[in-house]
Amino acid sequence: MNAFGYVRAGDVGIAVRALADGDGRARLIAGGTNLIDLMKENVERPSLLIDITHLPLGAIQAADDGGLRIGALVSNTDVAYHPEVERRYPLLSRAILAGASAQVRNMASVGGNLMQRTRCVYFYDRATPCNKRTPGAGCSAIGGFTRYHAILGTSEHCIAVHPSDMCVALAALDAVVRVTGPGGERAIAFEDFHRLPADTPHIDTNKRTDEIITAVDLPARGFADHYAYVKVRDRASYAFALVSVAAALRINGETIEEGRLALGGVAHKPWRDRAAESALVGQPASRATFERVADLLLRDARGFGHNAFKIPLAKRAVIRGLEQAAKGVNPP
Ligand code: SF4
Repeated sequence: MNAFGYVRAGDVGIAVRALADGDGRARLIAGGTNLIDLMKENVERPSLLIDITHLPLGAIQAADDGGLRIGALVSNTDVAYHPEVERRYPLLSRAILAGASAQVRNMASVGGNLMQRTRCVYFYDRATPCNKRTPGAGCSAIGGFTRYHAILGTSEHCIAVHPSDMCVALAALDAVVRVTGPGGERAIAFEDFHRLPADTPHIDTNKRTDEIITAVDLPARGFADHYAYVKVRDRASYAFALVSVAAALRINGETIEEGRLALGGVAHKPWRDRAAESALVGQPASRATFERVADLLLRDARGFGHNAFKIPLAKRAVIRGLEQAAKGVNPP
């Protein structure tokens, strides 16, 4: 492991200044559940670790607009089991509990979950070219082993997926990410937080490198009556999604008045498609509607050899998620 400095930030301003004053290789550390792995593999070689675990960002509290504000340092476990999250945003609770292991969820913070990096095996293997690790080096996944790679929003430079379950639910719920930097605070719509790879796959998010996530805001409406989180993976626990679906519906009688869909395991960011969601509105909550929407949602999907199976798999997962959401059925 390489030598690095360490500083414990006493407030957000100190953390921001430490980021801004560094050489671009300073990194924030909270739970460390991804960063430490990356440091062990020499993928991340920070010059300075800024310990933010003592910042006052560990609360979940009511927001002025009727929603909920979740501090960036709240653990994934504490979000999932918070009574207001379970009651008003069960989709978020389900998604978090579908991810990782209990031990990892206890350590992992909300902010860190948003900032975690892809688990593309080539990204972690410094013996292979990777545009995300070394811009311009090439992509070993394209033409390589692609079972866990993207089918939507890919580029010729990267086909990696974002690994989070929590973020898929946050995307469906229209959450907002609050960040603070040298210029003050700003809010980023969740849909705009993560990026597609395009020709800059080394940049995962639209958060600037000198900004720190302080909170995630949930809007007032949590779709607690009609929601589902469907995760398909290679083993029953402690596995990343091959495909996951966060579905949320507002239904009046038999008619859908609003629909939200977000997919995980298929793209460089949680995947939303407004055209597919619009196609739900005013339609009966029926299998025929859901099949039509699933086809629409995957219309631009492209397989890369080993992962081509994800296209029909994602369609079936979307249909199942919408059926469960419509019925209000969520088996444990
Ligand atoms: Fe690197 Fe992305 Fe290619 Fe994986 S898919 S090897 S992360 S460039």
